[in-house]
Amino acid sequence: MSKQVYNFCAGPAMLPQDVMREAQREFCDFNQLGVSVMELSHRGSHYMKVAEQAEQDLRELMNIPSHYRVFFMHGGGRGQFSAVPLNLLTRGDAADYLLTGHWSKGAADEADKYADVSRIQGLETDSDGHTRVTEKLRIRAEARYLHYCPNETIEGVELFELPDSQGKPLIADMSSMLLSRSLDVSRFGLIYAGAQKNIGPAGLAIVIADPALFVDARDDIPAILDYRQMEKHGSMYNTPPTFAWYLAGKVFQWLKRQGGVAAIEEHNKAKADYLYQYIDSSDFYRNTVAVSYRSRMNVPFQLPDRALDPEFLRGAEQRGLLALKGHRAVGGMRASIYNAMPLEGVKALVGYMELFEKLQRR
Ligand SMILES: *Cc1c(COP(=O)(O)O)cnc(C)c1O
Repeated sequence: MSKQVYNFCAGPAMLPQDVMREAQREFCDFNQLGVSVMELSHRGSHYMKVAEQAEQDLRELMNIPSHYRVFFMHGGGRGQFSAVPLNLLTRGDAADYLLTGHWSKGAADEADKYADVSRIQGLETDSDGHTRVTEKLRIRAEARYLHYCPNETIEGVELFELPDSQGKPLIADMSSMLLSRSLDVSRFGLIYAGAQKNIGPAGLAIVIADPALFVDARDDIPAILDYRQMEKHGSMYNTPPTFAWYLAGKVFQWLKRQGGVAAIEEHNKAKADYLYQYIDSSDFYRNTVAVSYRSRMNVPFQLPDRALDPEFLRGAEQRGLLALKGHRAVGGMRASIYNAMPLEGVKALVGYMELFEKLQRR
């Protein structure tokens, strides 16, 4: 390897080194076939084994109830913004969307095209100026589901407890936290995630769903977004994103070697605690999310003066600490510390933050 770098990009994000090396070894010659996995028929026995193993490993990692379907689909997270209402609602049906930030709002805006959407303000500001989740949610009686986003990637707001959906099926966009902590899948009607944060290459989406929620497909649904087609064809209605699926499978295997989701959750806690504790101990850096809603995956932080941002980023890059620039909607910095980020990466970041603060105070 060349110099040590730590990639804090929010997505596409860092993947485990072991996975990348393994994929590299097999790149031109998969299973001694003399071809790449990318060049294999998705219906051939070699690829089918890869695909089935990936699903089985994901089911094992998340303890997915056997009647739930698992789909590997095209179109990333946003593809599911459309697929969810198209598959779970008939025309004119109502669905409620909890708004907690950029991505939950994006999901509601897309669903608006297909459904009667009600937006529920999910966040309030407490007297200290910290954001927290609204206590009592006004869910409509006619709503067919409640959609929410457990981890708002841009704002760094994470909901560790399930919102009270008042008996409605809970639909969750887990794009930036799937597999980062333990979950009881049976409490969700449907879970989806774009792959490029914690799972693998961009473009792939994972869907985990209770098929009892699927309504008879509308006749105008694009077939590649149709869960019934996915079900019927084992996610191979058309050619699936085979390489992304293969790589996701390698990440699942890696996660099993790390001890599974419970083990990676402890690791993720340790990393996030280390960073937040440092930010809180400093009066130079600041994070404005209420402590109990701070994301373990995406840590936004601000410097005392925005004019310092370019210099901070330049110095970080020189030290191999990449992609720390915050989303333009929030400004400042954002450190994304998904499963693949080692504790050493977080320590290197904090070391640099300390140094930068000292230099500014001189
Ligand atoms: C990144 C992200 C998305 C968008 O995923 P795409 O694959 O780019 O469509 C959606 N929701 C959340 C929570 C995300 O973090």
